[in-house]
Amino acid sequence: MPKQTIADIDPNGKTILVRVDFNVPQSDTGAITDDRRIRMALPTIQSILSRGGKAIVMSHLGRPAGTGFEAAYSLAPVAKRLGELLAQPVQLASDTGGADAHSKAQSLPAGGVLVLENVRFNPGEKKGDKADYVAGLASLADAYANDAFGTCHRTEASMHAVPVAMKAQGKPVVVGFLVEKEIRYLSEAIAAPRRPFVAILGGKKVSDKIAVIDHLLGLCDHVLIGGAMAYTFSLAQGGSTGTSLVEKDKLDLARQLLAKGGKKLKLPVDSHCAADFSATAPRQIVKAGQIPAGFEGLDIGPETAEIYRDIIRSAGTVVWNGPMGVFEMPPFDAGTKTVAEAVAFATTQGAITIIGGGDSAAAVEQLGFAELVSHVSTGGGASLEMLEGKSFASVDVLDEK
Ligand code: AMP
Repeated sequence: MPKQTIADIDPNGKTILVRVDFNVPQSDTGAITDDRRIRMALPTIQSILSRGGKAIVMSHLGRPAGTGFEAAYSLAPVAKRLGELLAQPVQLASDTGGADAHSKAQSLPAGGVLVLENVRFNPGEKKGDKADYVAGLASLADAYANDAFGTCHRTEASMHAVPVAMKAQGKPVVVGFLVEKEIRYLSEAIAAPRRPFVAILGGKKVSDKIAVIDHLLGLCDHVLIGGAMAYTFSLAQGGSTGTSLVEKDKLDLARQLLAKGGKKLKLPVDSHCAADFSATAPRQIVKAGQIPAGFEGLDIGPETAEIYRDIIRSAGTVVWNGPMGVFEMPPFDAGTKTVAEAVAFATTQGAITIIGGGDSAAAVEQLGFAELVSHVSTGGGASLEMLEGKSFASVDVLDEK
């Protein structure tokens, strides 16, 4: 069932507690180096403010010890940046749901924004006694919105116990626009896909993606494998993989996936390999399973790229997680680039195209295709778990339509 969203509640004269993921990267001096996570939450916050509501925003940042305030993990720079983006003053409470948060919440004007200090300063956020901490947060507001997609696979108190408590008090608990969009693409589009449904899976390790491959094999028409993980499959088939990255302890598992996948599971037919992990080392293109000793596979070969391109171009739905090669180091970005172009083309033909978070998102951003696909996920671990078909307790607890 779809979840109620922030658009389904009337925030006029109300205070909404919004859990966001403002875990932004920072320089050594604390400057925010990428504010995308803050910008992604703006539609939800602005929707509350423009309809006469007040927003209390909470997030984690980094990994403090959980024993109180640590300046290095303060949300002060984030609150400042949020104020700049919203072009209005944003207050910062010195605690999370304590005395200062309550006093500032009480004097917050309509259309006002209050940022709470890092939720992970509190022992109750991750473990320890939660009761007072949760009660302090739950009593701050009239409704709760979860717009923290990158954290949705976690059950820390601000993600789960707080909405549980607020729901028990009869308060609406809903998703924000970002989480709504992620669920629409990573879960709903996949459950009822337009066919052919093509999954593209790459990256470093098979072990990270076993559950995704397994789940998508049950749903897709084609599963295209690339990246270093292809070499573990190749080795499992008796191929020579030279010095390529392989997981020798995952060969049985690779064989099981090959048996389950049958013709659906497509492996590279050639490989672009090099004598070293470098762009200047001697390079050659070889047939899959024939990588010479001393050579390392760093990208799918051109014949594979062409086969994958043709399958992707005629897809109705595409899900992509993990690059086809070392895209950070040309010329080994070629396979990933061809695949990205094909995904962009499929989008122009009406396909729903979804890029998982983490390195796949970085690859399409770097190659300039982010605007040319239906959805680029903002969550790494959360996106992967959703593609594994897992449900999230932090989302399950929220009100249904
Ligand atoms: P993952 O986080 O598992 O999606 O892996 C992404 C990383 O895998 C990227 O940094 C790529 O450079 C790397 N990668 C992809 N293909 C290969 C390969 N053939 N050999 C080594 N690293 C690779």
